[in-house]
Amino acid sequence: MDKIKMTTPLVEMDGDEMTRILWQYIKDELLTPYIDLNTEYYDLGLEKRNETDDQITVDSANATKKYGVAVKCATITPNAARVKEYDLKEMWKSPNGTIRAILDGTVFRAPIVVKGIEPCVKNWKKPITIARHAYGDVYKGSEMKIPGAGKVELVYTDEAGNETRELVHNFTGAGIVQGMHNINKSIESFARSCFNYALDTKQDLWFATKDTISKKYDHTFKDIFQEIYDNEYAGKFEAAGIEYFYTLIDDAVARVMKSEGGYIWACKNYDGDVMSDMVSSAFGSLAMMTSVLVSPDGYYEYEAAHGTVQRHYYKHLAGEETSTNSVATIFAWTGALRKRGELDGNKDLMEFADKLEKATLATIEAGKMTKDLALITSLENVTVLNSLDFIRAIRATMETL
Ligand code: NAP
Ligand code: MG
Repeated sequence: MDKIKMTTPLVEMDGDEMTRILWQYIKDELLTPYIDLNTEYYDLGLEKRNETDDQITVDSANATKKYGVAVKCATITPNAARVKEYDLKEMWKSPNGTIRAILDGTVFRAPIVVKGIEPCVKNWKKPITIARHAYGDVYKGSEMKIPGAGKVELVYTDEAGNETRELVHNFTGAGIVQGMHNINKSIESFARSCFNYALDTKQDLWFATKDTISKKYDHTFKDIFQEIYDNEYAGKFEAAGIEYFYTLIDDAVARVMKSEGGYIWACKNYDGDVMSDMVSSAFGSLAMMTSVLVSPDGYYEYEAAHGTVQRHYYKHLAGEETSTNSVATIFAWTGALRKRGELDGNKDLMEFADKLEKATLATIEAGKMTKDLALITSLENVTVLNSLDFIRAIRATMETL
């Protein structure tokens, strides 16, 4: 059989540790036998980042702007221990942070739903995708401990030197205070990324804040979303048969619990931080979560939501067998290949992505899985496979489709 051809390169960002090992297995077993893989390769492994003073990360993000679609392996974000372990020149920043700053995107996280791995919330039948605003609020806040009685105010000084003041509190004793901000431009980008992704995936979009209490701060989020929706997206949503739905955050939480899933839930920065952990753990496993960065200009970067699985890597280095779950990394590849196919009008590539996903799920549903899933599955008599054998089992399933 002829291999599938690709007209435009996909930006390939390699990574670290156990996921780097899986990356190679996936390419060797599941991709290159079927596709003339056309990628522009960037090694974001920590050694290469250190060698290039992290220029390689910047280059890979710029290549994503050039070609439109990237697939990324998990990477180490260095801490003090990693600086020592890898003898680093500096504590390089998180590659995801660097890439996100260049592409100005929103991250969408969605669980991979498969029979046999049931969500804790019984009525959840379809994935719930969380979109987290990645700028500002408490993550860029300034705080003070107030030692005793006194007045705290917010002061805005415009460029001409005029001041506007707003009383925060007249303290009569010790207390605490926090100031935080956001930027209209960032909220607008967030809104457009969410509306575009909803159209892309043909799912309803939910958005919620606490605008009844926060009449200026949260209300601005609500207003910006509504204005962009009315002016740019209402017609497109209607044509696609999907809905934009705004409600209060506490109402949203209650509705999410009672829903059957199948929508995108846009969250402010803090809500997204908290709710994405709730949704992912309720759906079963971090190893079954995908993640895609969507820029307001229409660039896409696909990856797994989990890290480099360091503990398994050390076992692997010690020559021990590992049973590391490659599903989220496989889905990062299929997401990227499908998007590449869509942008290039390459139907074969899109069909291949569908087929590989189907084979992956069918393999698990047939009772062949990695150890992490075997521990939580409702299926009986499952076979636990090692990292490579699981990928080979998927290949065998794919050959039968
Ligand atoms: P992790 O790689 O997500 O792994 C934490 C634990 O979760 C593992 O030890 C394993 O549990 C389980 N796990 C995660 N993914 C799994 C998989 N695919 N299959 C089976 N089990 C899986 O987090 P970490 O060990 O805290 O972080 C390691 C490195 O990843 C860090 O250097 C961090 O900077 C980096 N990181 C990168 C990204 C990214 O690039 N997007 C995201 C997060 C973290 P058991 O050990 O119990 O089997
Ligand atoms: Mg968190």
